[in-house]
This record gives sequence, C-alpha cells and structure tokens, in this order.
Amino acid sequence: MRSPIEDYLQEVLAGTEDGGEVASYIPELAQADPERLAAALCTADGTVYAAGDTAARFSIQSMSKPFAYALALEEHGIDRVLQKVGVEPSGDSFNSASLDPSDQRPDNPMINIGAIATHALILPEGSRDERDERVRLGLSAFAGRELAVEEAVYASEIETAFRNLSLAYLVRSADGFGQDPHEIVEGYTRQCALSVDVRDLAVMAMTLAAGGVNPVTTKRVVSAEVAQQVLSVMTMCGMYDAAGDWMTHVGIPAKSGVSGGVIGGLPGQVGLSVFSPRLDRVGHSVRGVQVFERFSREMGMHLLTSPPLSVDAVRSITRTETDRGQQRSFALQGPLRFSSAEQVLRQFERVTPGDFPVALDLSRVTSFDPVARRMVLEGLRRLREDGHPILLADPKGVLPEPDLGDGSLPERLDA
Ligand code: GLU
Repeated sequence: MRSPIEDYLQEVLAGTEDGGEVASYIPELAQADPERLAAALCTADGTVYAAGDTAARFSIQSMSKPFAYALALEEHGIDRVLQKVGVEPSGDSFNSASLDPSDQRPDNPMINIGAIATHALILPEGSRDERDERVRLGLSAFAGRELAVEEAVYASEIETAFRNLSLAYLVRSADGFGQDPHEIVEGYTRQCALSVDVRDLAVMAMTLAAGGVNPVTTKRVVSAEVAQQVLSVMTMCGMYDAAGDWMTHVGIPAKSGVSGGVIGGLPGQVGLSVFSPRLDRVGHSVRGVQVFERFSREMGMHLLTSPPLSVDAVRSITRTETDRGQQRSFALQGPLRFSSAEQVLRQFERVTPGDFPVALDLSRVTSFDPVARRMVLEGLRRLREDGHPILLADPKGVLPEPDLGDGSLPERLDA
C-alpha cells in the first residue's frame, strides 16, 4: 500500500500559494531557487514521511538556535544559562538590538542577539574551532547524520554580518561573554550555515518533541528537562514578533529560518518541517506558514486542544468469596497519569477496612507516569494499613518497584 500520509503531505504542498520574497540581505540566499517546496514529518518511533523537493539542501539559519540553546543548557544547566539569556518574548524583530534594561540580558535565545550570546556559552574556554566543532557535532546528533557547513553561505553572510557584529559588541559590552565578538559572530554564522534537508529538520524537531532522544538513532542527545525548556522557549519566542499570532493560530512550538524553513515539534507526537524560500514581512516562509496552518487545523495538532478526557481507568471491580470475606479485584486500563490515578484512588476510598484481600490487575495498563505510580502505591499502602492483604497482577511489568512503603511488596498473582 502507498502511504496516505505521504499523499496527504503532497496534497498540502500542492494547495499552498506562494508570495513574498526570498531573503536577500545574505547575498547567497538570494540565489536560492524560490520554487523549491518540501515538507517532512517524523513520528515518535522515527518513521520519516517526506514530500516535494526532499533532496533540496539549504542552510539551517535560525532553525539552529533551539538546538544550540539545547547544547548550552546541557553544558551549563538551565539556571546558569538563564543568568545570561532570558526567556521572555521580545515582540521585536529577529535582529533587534535590545537588552533587557534591568539586567542587560538578551530577552531570549531565539532572536539574533540572544542566539549570539548563547553560542558564546558553548565551550566558553575553547577555541573558535573547538566551539564550531561542538556545535556541528551537537546539531548532527539531533539530525542523526553528520552535518557540514555550506561554505558559500558562510562566506556570503560573514561579509555582510555588520548587524550581528554590532549585536555581539553590545552583548560583550554588557559582560554577556568574554570572548572576541568577531570570533563569536564567525562561529554563530557557521552554526547558521550548516546544511540540512527537510528530513534532517523533522528528525531534529522530533528529538526535542521526544524528550531529547533521537527517534532514529535512539541515542539521548539532551536531557528531557532541556528538551522541555527548549520547546517552551520555542512556544513563546520561536516565531519572533509573530509568536503570539502563531501560538493562538497554529499552536505548535516552532522556529523559522531566513533560508525558508520552518520546524515544529509537538511533544510526544511529531516533528515537522517545511522548506520554501519566499518569506513574508516578518521573515517566515510564506508557504511554510500555510502548511503548518493546515497541519494544525486538519491533523488536530494545536498544542492546547484539550485531549479526549481520560477513559475510565478502572475497567471493572469484581468481588469473589474468600475465607477472609469478599475479595475486591480492581482491573485498571490505559495510560495512568494524575487524572486517571485519581479515579483509582476514588474507588480505593470506597473499600471498607477489613482483612479481605484487595487485588489489582494491571494487565491492560499501558504505562504509569511517576505521579500515577506514587498515587496508586500510596493508595495500596493505605489499604494495607486498613488490614487488607494486597495482591498484584502485572504481567508486563508496567508498575516498577511496587514497594508499599516499608520495603514490603504485594503478593504477585502472576509470579
Ligand atoms: N543567520 C541569520 C542571521 O543571523 C539567521 C536569521 C534567521 O534565520 O532568521 O541574520
């Protein structure tokens, strides 16, 4: 069977209308073929669907910023990075020369001034080459293949990087970093000139959306905490001065780049990317934005759409006669998190004290998150305190270490 998902991507691309202009402030980007159009989608298990000019390579530009930010966070921890670069939407354009008046930090790592300060945080004691290599290999780990710098794009951008140089001097003057501003802008510009295609970008976005594990290589690239921090900042600041409009309208944590790409990552679900070089007035790919709008609308991908309410976590409660009275057996189902574990506790509350056994059947439970695990174990501990022997059937081992508080374990029904 031919994948309907690839056909859908094709259809979405065909339905877009082009407009705007190719970026020209970086002379090499003005050479891009404006008709190029491609999209890719990477799933949580690392399957990549792609359509259009999927072989087209282009420089990553600002779409490198979330990943460089992730590398800085991984190296120094969130608090230290926060001392240097904030997480507030600036409402300004991507190259605005602004530092927070109260603490002299760039507002966020997604605008150029913040991205330059962030780049300087990567291997701060290293040489420019060492830092470049760390960035290149770090972004390669997100992509799952070795990325290389498009030298022509680098050469072209660095020749005209006066604005970014002025931003670097501004950060340097506010003690944002200690290195030579020229070196930092060179390194930042090389970071932006890394060459990618839509598949790379979809995998990179999914790595963030998968809590920091590359779904294709299955290697951990950054911690789950770092991935969450990066997606949060993308949510608020990824689309520059159109971030509010984007979040309400599309609702996918995203980042655009001046080469014409847009990436988005929906936690636990998909990594998305689109490439089409003509940009709107804010600097976003015109067709890229349209594709994301359709994804959001037609595939139910707005982050804040309420998910279906949890199914009944307690599938059945049965009573069987035992010599100690009527045993209560609770069969649970589905993924257990706070809201479903609360349903379980509510049923436990109805069990009167006594010495009849309480059995828990987890054979239809798919997962416990840490909160649900704690809640259910606490419920079992209290039932035992009320006198009940606790029996557990967990054939798939979804409830790790079912310790009832004092090191004692429930009696296994599946052992
Ligand atoms: N390298 C570009 C710059 O610093 C990135 C801007 C963008 O992609 O939005 O101007």
